[in-house]
Order: sequence, then C-alpha cells, then structure tokens
Amino acid sequence: MAGTETMLAEEELTEVNDRLAGAAPTDILRWAVDRYGDRLTMATAFGPEGCILIHLLAEIEANVRIFNLDTGYQFAETLALRDRIAERYGIEVELVGADTSVAEYEAKNGGPLYAINSERCCYERKIVPLRRALVGYDAWITAIRADQSADRARAKVLGWDPKFGLAKVNPLLAWTKRDVWAFIVANKVPYNPLHDQGYPSIGCWPCTRPVGAGEDERAGRWAGQAKTECGLHSLDSSQL
Ligand code: SF4
Repeated sequence: MAGTETMLAEEELTEVNDRLAGAAPTDILRWAVDRYGDRLTMATAFGPEGCILIHLLAEIEANVRIFNLDTGYQFAETLALRDRIAERYGIEVELVGADTSVAEYEAKNGGPLYAINSERCCYERKIVPLRRALVGYDAWITAIRADQSADRARAKVLGWDPKFGLAKVNPLLAWTKRDVWAFIVANKVPYNPLHDQGYPSIGCWPCTRPVGAGEDERAGRWAGQAKTECGLHSLDSSQL
C-alpha cells in the first residue's frame, strides 16, 4: 500500500537511531527530507507538537505534504487553527476525510457510533482515510513524545510501521511537555486555544473532555473507556 520501500534494513534502522537519538528535531527532519524526498508525508491533528513540526518544516523550507484526518467531529477551534497556520507559514494542511459526511454516516448507522462503538468509528473515520492518504509514501513524520504513554516510550526516532507499511520518523520523541510549551512560547507558534481551557490532548469533540489537576494528559480522550489511542500510533494492531 505504501511507496517503493517494503521494509527498512535492520542496519539502517540501527545506524540512524544511533546517530539521531537525542538529535535536534530540525536535524531529524532534515535527515528525513534528504532520505525520503517527496515520498515523505506528515499527519497532524494540530496538537502543540504537530504545530512545532510545521514551524520547523517551514524554517527549513521543506516541501512536505501535511494532512489532517478530518473526521467531521473536530472542534471548530481545531479547524480555525488550520487557517491560522496557513496565514503564518503559508502551509495549507490538506483535510483528508472519510467517504461519507457525518450526516450520511450517522444516518447509515442509525445515529452516532462514537458513543456505542468508538473503535469502529475511529477505524472508519480515521484509519481507513489514513491508509488511503499514505499510499505512495515511504515514510511519515509523527509528533509523538516518548513520555506520553508506555506504548510511545518504546518508539525510536526511526522505526518501521508494520501497520501501515512505511517508515515512521519521530523528531520530537525525546522532548518533554515542558520543552514543547517552552518552544511554543519562545517562538509564538500558533496553538489550539482549547489547551488554555483544560484540554491537554484534543481529538474529536464527542470523545474529548477537559482533565483535572493531577490527571494524565491523555485522560480526557475517550474518558470512561479502556481506549487510549485511535490506532494511528499504537504498536498493538488489535486496536484497529
Ligand atoms: S475520536 Fe470519537 S468521534 Fe472521532 S473518530 Fe474516534 S470515536 Fe469517532
């Protein structure tokens, strides 16, 4: 389904990860752009980390296709952030959606699925469009940080993504939440105003709530369910 590469050699993985572990995100992005050229892409949900990566890609003038999985259930603030980013950086993040509008989808299913079967809703509104968007690409950039979850802590700067059949580049893996916000403030990077209203992690509005003091930063995603990831960055394919 992906581009020209069907695997990453173990030697390259080891060599690159030894060389780039702890490297500056800009250096990791430069390496990825040199290595993959126009077969490199990036998905963003406009989280603070994704906004930083867009800022850094603009700084190095990298012409990388960036897209957003537009489920139809995103907050208005998230979609407005896309416009602010376009104004600031001249980068138009492409909206990639499902085949059906929310109205069609809910009519087909007798109502919204997110409350009764969020796994299927995420699969049909995010994963299926994502698979389509990644066709023809050999690598994608993600905005994950190792300290976000035990699953993400196992990732490396460069990995092979067996679920989607392409390489995965994680430039911000070594950054902490504090690093992220220090960079945003210092560089006036546009960010989602909902972060100032108690939402540390923002997805679709039906599945995101503000978190209280002392709660995990992803505690507001699919609150009350065992689900913690939509399946994009989990290492466990059973999440699909
Ligand atoms: S986060 Fe919620 S609304 Fe969005 S696709 Fe997943 S289940 Fe559906």
